[in-house]
Amino acid sequence: MNYWKSVCNAGTRPKCIREQLVPFPEYRPISAGDTIILYDYSNNDIYGPMIAITGCEEDLVPEAWQGQYQYQVKVAWDELYRITSSEFPRIENSEEFSEEEFQQVVDLLQNEGDRLMLLEWGTPAAALDTDIVAEPRDSEIASARKDLEAQLENEPPDAETTEYQSVEQVARQEAFREAVREAYDETCAVCGIRRETPDGRPEVEAAHIKPKSEGGPDDIRNGIALCKLHHWAFDNSWLSVTDNYRVEITDAQCSDGYSEFVSLDGQNLELPADPRMYPALKYFD
Ligand SMILES: [Zn+2]
Repeated sequence: MNYWKSVCNAGTRPKCIREQLVPFPEYRPISAGDTIILYDYSNNDIYGPMIAITGCEEDLVPEAWQGQYQYQVKVAWDELYRITSSEFPRIENSEEFSEEEFQQVVDLLQNEGDRLMLLEWGTPAAALDTDIVAEPRDSEIASARKDLEAQLENEPPDAETTEYQSVEQVARQEAFREAVREAYDETCAVCGIRRETPDGRPEVEAAHIKPKSEGGPDDIRNGIALCKLHHWAFDNSWLSVTDNYRVEITDAQCSDGYSEFVSLDGQNLELPADPRMYPALKYFD
């Protein structure tokens, strides 16, 4: 088994990752089973380890990269990792690496790297022009969940202040959803209805009271569990909440839906059993 370095840039990388295809400027004696690392010189990132599933062949995918890189290798991976090249600076200007050095890069990737997963086109990450995002492990979600619960000892924050690495951010969002749904016993705080799919997944959603887009934090007290209908009604200003946790309905008598929503006006919210997890009123403004 041999090691190889393929090189890409910000423009060619998405194809490498999505199509699991890496380019070489000229023929290399690569065999299926060899290990390949991919160096993105635009962003100074290293991706890998990838396993070659073909040799180095001419025009495997002729239309890839507009025919710019004729020699190509199809690759696969179980888990893909990314590190910055500053963890292995020699990659930026050297061509030749010993087997020990390659193995060192693979160890760095597997032990220190962000674990990545492919996203489908059309996701928020795609909108941000990134084709991959870290996928949190269950242990990382559990650890984010502990942090969220520990945070209940402090005043609810005004805004999200900490900058998280991608994997931590995703773990934290997932922990937020879990914690909020559980705090409300998977029941809508407005109508008190609890539904699940035939295979037992709860319908109820963890809504941000102060939206993420306005800097609302992933704090349990900035969350409220709502069924899909009342989540929609909350996000679209049909529902608001008074200082004593009562539902208030917008007086839009001419809009369809008013007659249905108005029956909730003045009703008490179904709050969490643990008062530390009550929504903080500051977020409702
Ligand atoms: Zn509801």
